[in-house]
Amino acid sequence: MGRALLWLSRDDTFSRRTLEPDEIAGELEKFREAAGTAVQEIERTADEVGNRLGPEYAAIFHAHALFLKDRTFLGPIERRISNDAVNAEWAVASVTESLAARFRDLPDENLVHRAADLEDVSKTLRRHLGDGGISPSRIETIEGEGIVLIADELTPSDAVRIPRERIVGFVTERGGRTSHVAILARSFGIPAVVAVPRLLASIGEGDRVIVDGLEGVVWREPTGDLVSLFEDRKSRDADRQRSLRERSLSGAVKTLDGQDIAIRANIELSSEIPDVLEYGADGVGLFRSEFLYLSSSDAEFPDEATQAEIYRDALARLAPHPVVIRTWDLGGKKGSRQLPGFEEGNPVLGLRGIRLCFKRPAMFRTQIRALLRAAKAGDLRILVPMISGIEEMRRVRTLIDECRDELRGEGVEVPERIVLGTMIEVPAAAIMADLLAAEVDFLSLGTNDLIQYTLAVDRANETVSELFRPHHPAVLRLIARVAEAARAAEKPVSVCGEMAGDPIFFMLLLGLGIREFSMGPRSVPALKEVARTVSTADAQRVARAALTLATADEVAALLSREGHSLLSGELTVRPREVT
Ligand code: PEP
Ligand code: MG
Repeated sequence: MGRALLWLSRDDTFSRRTLEPDEIAGELEKFREAAGTAVQEIERTADEVGNRLGPEYAAIFHAHALFLKDRTFLGPIERRISNDAVNAEWAVASVTESLAARFRDLPDENLVHRAADLEDVSKTLRRHLGDGGISPSRIETIEGEGIVLIADELTPSDAVRIPRERIVGFVTERGGRTSHVAILARSFGIPAVVAVPRLLASIGEGDRVIVDGLEGVVWREPTGDLVSLFEDRKSRDADRQRSLRERSLSGAVKTLDGQDIAIRANIELSSEIPDVLEYGADGVGLFRSEFLYLSSSDAEFPDEATQAEIYRDALARLAPHPVVIRTWDLGGKKGSRQLPGFEEGNPVLGLRGIRLCFKRPAMFRTQIRALLRAAKAGDLRILVPMISGIEEMRRVRTLIDECRDELRGEGVEVPERIVLGTMIEVPAAAIMADLLAAEVDFLSLGTNDLIQYTLAVDRANETVSELFRPHHPAVLRLIARVAEAARAAEKPVSVCGEMAGDPIFFMLLLGLGIREFSMGPRSVPALKEVARTVSTADAQRVARAALTLATADEVAALLSREGHSLLSGELTVRPREVT
């Protein structure tokens, strides 16, 4: 519960805002900072383009950077912010518009081209103004109360940079339940609702808002009765979570019929390690390392020594439990805009994960060397994202061997055996799971992407979210196939997609033969409780029945019926989510 703060992320949605007198200094500072980081970004692009295409092409970008250092461009923007008391985005857009119009009126064709350059620079600048997160001066205007962020859309890097101390919830107009922003909200324990139609037209800045993340409902200007109802619910929920957490700390769990189950945590940042311990997870089943880059304020890759220290620290703090570190899964919707030079029409099918790593060998080699340097600090397992063929895994294995020899040559101690696994999240990998299982030490099913790519449904697109169905027969058949391939090859297989953290799907996955699960740290206690209270025999019966059904609706009906009878009433069983 808190006060609404409206946040517009898209280029075409920024609007004019009149600043209070005491906001002007902060806005000027925000503008100067954005200009500085935009210059750095453009110069990096210039270097890259220069190396790849030659200096004459780099000159275009050097000229762009010059605009951002030129007082005849910066001066009028700053004056507009301070004299007219308008927000920086608006000042940049209006100054650009009038300057570009003047260039266009000149007879010299070269100068007409400068207008297009100027507009390009202005776009970069506005992106940096928006990308820095919510400006502290706006947050301070809401005193004493929690803030509910109301946004059209949030990117994963927005989500890791929002000031978590003040934000008590967020709501977005766009997105899906398994988009990375929703996953981060779950990890941070911030109630969130995504894909709310006409959100920004319905809520005003400063409105009092309740975000019910469990039911997916947002209340505006609630009555006193409703507030006390939610206060009650919140405290009951906190009590329930506390008792689940206490039980979770008692260590590894077994099902009713004595099967060992591992329940690990998915994390994005090292700052979540205390949660992994506090919520009783059996180690980390997925460390999304790309967030080391997405959360860095200067959008730089941490160097080898810095990365090695981060990995070593995670391994040592969680030992003897395993820590599965996934190599960079950038591209797609994660960080592509911070990686200049890779503008793609269809990024989710483009240079994402391992593909981008192969295009950026120096960046990838640095990460592998850092991982190997850290390896002896604990139980390291390396996981590779977006694998679609055997040759990609072989190439990674060769790189690991090369880096190991190199490091040993430098006198660094590296264990002989490095545990290496593949994400199964592209249908091609699931179909070839038997062949992949023979090449690697373990498999990890990324159901978020496996569902997205199997059903051709963008996981972050609210217009098709009803078609994103984990219980679709095609998805179940693929998962069953992967579980069977892993069993036959005697290789461990885990599920680290969001399905793992949902009690009903957990039961289904258990029945399909999965024994290792990984999920947001806060889901661990409830799922350990589920594992303790079901038997694999019951779960298998449900899974077998599910595999005979022809439609997702039939599977949903079966799961909701069985979920009610097999899972303890204390656990949240919400058939609404299945259907
Ligand atoms: C997945 O795809 O299921 C997964 C765990 O990886 P991510 O959500 O980071 O894409
Ligand atoms: Mg994935």
